[in-house]
Amino acid sequence: MIELRVSTEASPTLPDYAPVPNTAFGPTLNEQGYYVGRVERNLYWVTDGVYQAAFLTTSDGVVLFDAPPTIGHNLQRAIDEIARANGVGSTVRYLVHTHHHADHVGASSLFGKEVVRIGQEETRRLLLRDDDPARPPLDETFSDRRRLEIGDERIELAWHGPNHTPDNSVIHFPEHNALMMVDIVNAGWVPVSVVNLSEDIRGYVAMPGVALTYPWKTLVSGHLGRLATRDDVVTHQQYMADLDASIRTAWATFDPTPIFVTYGPNIWAGVKHYLDAVSRAAAQPVIEKYTGVLAAADVYTADVSFWLMESIRLDLGYGSQVHA
Ligand SMILES: [Zn+2]
Ligand SMILES: [Zn+2]
Repeated sequence: MIELRVSTEASPTLPDYAPVPNTAFGPTLNEQGYYVGRVERNLYWVTDGVYQAAFLTTSDGVVLFDAPPTIGHNLQRAIDEIARANGVGSTVRYLVHTHHHADHVGASSLFGKEVVRIGQEETRRLLLRDDDPARPPLDETFSDRRRLEIGDERIELAWHGPNHTPDNSVIHFPEHNALMMVDIVNAGWVPVSVVNLSEDIRGYVAMPGVALTYPWKTLVSGHLGRLATRDDVVTHQQYMADLDASIRTAWATFDPTPIFVTYGPNIWAGVKHYLDAVSRAAAQPVIEKYTGVLAAADVYTADVSFWLMESIRLDLGYGSQVHA
C-alpha cells in the first residue's frame, strides 16, 4: 500500500496581485456580516460580500432564491429586518434553487420541512444522487420553463440547456426589472478558477447572451458584493471573446517542438507544458487589457484561459489535424 503524507504548511512566498478596483466592491456589511438591500419594490438581495441570495416578500409569505451556507442564518435575519420595517410576514414558504451546488443552497435545511423547494428537474436528480442532509430534495420541478404566481407576484423560471452545471437555470422577475443568473457573470470580477468551475463551456459562454434577451435592469449574479448591470454582462462577454481570440492566435503560432524534444518519452510532461505554455501566453494580453477593469484579472485569467482553450480544441475542433 502507498502511504500518503500531506503537508499543510502555507507557502512562504504568496504572490502579489494588482489592487482590486473600487468599482468591484459593494455596500458595507453590517456587524453580523451581511448587507440587505432593495432591488425593486418587494424584491430584495442579500450578500456577505462573496455570495448573494434574493427574496421576495409576498402576501403568501417569503420566496427565497438560493440559500448560500456562508450567509446561513443571516438569510433569516435579513428577511426579518425587511419584514419588520415593512410590516409583512417573514416566514419563508418557498425556496427556489438556481442549481444544486452546495455553496449556493447548502443552507436549505435551515428552512425546515414545510418550505416548498422548487427547481429544475435535473437539480432534483442531482440532489437525490448527492444525498446531502443540508440540501433536502425538491418538492416541485420544471423542465424548460415554469411560471410561478405567488401572492400576486410573477416569477419566470427557465432552463436554457447545460452551462455552469447541467441544471443551472435563470429566474426572471418581469415585474421587478430583474434577473437572477448565478455562476456565469461575477459582477465586477473575472470568472474563478477554470471558467467558473463550469461543466459545459459552450453553454457557459452562451448564457450572457441569453441573459441579455430578457428585459431587466438589475442582475443578481450570485457572487461578490454588488449587483450587476447590463454593462457588466457586456464587459464579461468582451473579456471572454478577447480571451477566445487570443487563445486561437496563441495556439496557431506556438511551436511546441522544444518542449516535446526536452521531455522525449514522457508524453504527459510534454503535453502538460505545451498546454500550460499556450494558455499562459494567450492570457497575457487579456490580463493587461482587463487589469483595473475586472478585479483579479491577474489572479485567474490563466486558469480561465486553460479551460476555455480545451473547449475550443475539444468541443469546436479548433487546431485538430487528421493524420495523413
Ligand atoms: Zn455553482
Ligand atoms: Zn458560485
